[in-house]
Amino acid sequence: MHRKTLADIALGLEKKEFSSVEITTSFFERIKQLDPDINSFITVTDEQALIKAKLADKQRANNTASPLAGVPIAHKDIFCTEGVKTTCGSKMLDNFLSPYNATVIEKCEAAGLVMLGKTNMDEFAMGSSNETSFYGPVHNPHNLNCVPGGSSGGSAAAVAAGFAPAATGTDTGGSIRQPAAFCGITGLKPTYGRISRWGMIAFASSLDQAGPMTQNAEDAALLMNVMAGFDPKDSTSSDKPTEDYTAKLNVSLKGKKIGLPRQFFSQGLDPAIEQSVRDALTVYEKLGATLVDIELPNADLATPAYYVIAPAECSSNLSRFDGVRFGHRCENPANLADLYSRSRGEGFGDEVKRRILVGTYVLSAGFYDAYYLQAQKARRLIKNDYLNAFEQVDFIAGPTAPSTAFSLNNEIEDPVAMYLNDIYTIAVNLAGLPALSIPCGIASKLPVGLQLIGNYFSEADLLNAGHQFQQNTDWHTQLLAQSVR
Ligand code: GLN
Repeated sequence: MHRKTLADIALGLEKKEFSSVEITTSFFERIKQLDPDINSFITVTDEQALIKAKLADKQRANNTASPLAGVPIAHKDIFCTEGVKTTCGSKMLDNFLSPYNATVIEKCEAAGLVMLGKTNMDEFAMGSSNETSFYGPVHNPHNLNCVPGGSSGGSAAAVAAGFAPAATGTDTGGSIRQPAAFCGITGLKPTYGRISRWGMIAFASSLDQAGPMTQNAEDAALLMNVMAGFDPKDSTSSDKPTEDYTAKLNVSLKGKKIGLPRQFFSQGLDPAIEQSVRDALTVYEKLGATLVDIELPNADLATPAYYVIAPAECSSNLSRFDGVRFGHRCENPANLADLYSRSRGEGFGDEVKRRILVGTYVLSAGFYDAYYLQAQKARRLIKNDYLNAFEQVDFIAGPTAPSTAFSLNNEIEDPVAMYLNDIYTIAVNLAGLPALSIPCGIASKLPVGLQLIGNYFSEADLLNAGHQFQQNTDWHTQLLAQSVR
């Protein structure tokens, strides 16, 4: 049961091979049995899920069910869920019950998807290893001594371990793609604005974007059909009409040009990863695509620019956690200043504090021009590099991450080493582009991810490129089979 894809489950439910209550219960049994070793869920919502599953079964019996009604899903604990604890991986929100649902949650609920629970994550989505979570680290289902990646590490591990057929994630600098790569699953970071950010706890608002984390590209397309769309509650959401993201699956890649940036295949890349990625690219050549060498001259600016812009936005976004209206409040504050400083001091972990300090510094009068303004200029140069590249090619390809999943406790004391995990993913967020990570090989017994970057709003083409690869290789199923049994 636990390796069925979203498409399999939807079909099985339609054919009445099993009920939603049955399949939902089977996931809870597996979570109960195996998640103590993995720690991918912060909250499990079994009671609520069974009510929803029963309803879906009733709709199936009456033939009034929508296509995904009764199909289980896990949600990253960054999405507000009405009446269900929403922690964002932080002690600050350990007691927070949201009064409303995020738009992504509303859309999933309306599609009849059954929420299994809320997944573990780096605190406020800041991290690349899931080790900054107040709820403890997540263990990679391929090797329990390794990290699952982050910040959507719980979602990636839950899908890889077969605790949920799919999950939602968010990606500010790589947080869908890097954990997808580390856990051997498929993850799509859509174009900025394609999915509403309303009710998604903000980290860096000009970069944050939600997306699907699934066992394959076809399932990601099914979830995009649920999640994408304009939302009047999010002024940065795009009003460009959505499309059927499954419609282009099976379009031939003949004649497509795939750009290989020299900067993505240079020093710092694990040779075994480079080999897997190059092997995967030969599959695309066999499918009729042409590989073209390209340049992204400002690639080196991405990580430094991001680590000015993201902290700047986070310092502003996280000022709302002041111990007054919601979230953690210190005991017996002596006065207002004491309330603020102790509530924040106690509620936030080290990485969040580090980012708030950096962000406050780069925005301060006197330093704003030197850091924040410079970073915004670098951001424009990076975006222009991609715009130029997309005049020549249809997709840009490379590794998702420079290494495979690393050991727990290995990088958490060295913030800069941790930040370098995102060298291939961050520029995509700075430019607002969509990108997909698909499993493409194994190195040191751990999954390797291939990243495909597309032009704005090319999600359907990207998903097709992923699907074509998965129709002609079996990395995606092989890797899930070697994950925790
Ligand atoms: N690892 C990056 C960071 O720590 C990206 C995180 C994310 O995409 N949310 O900021």
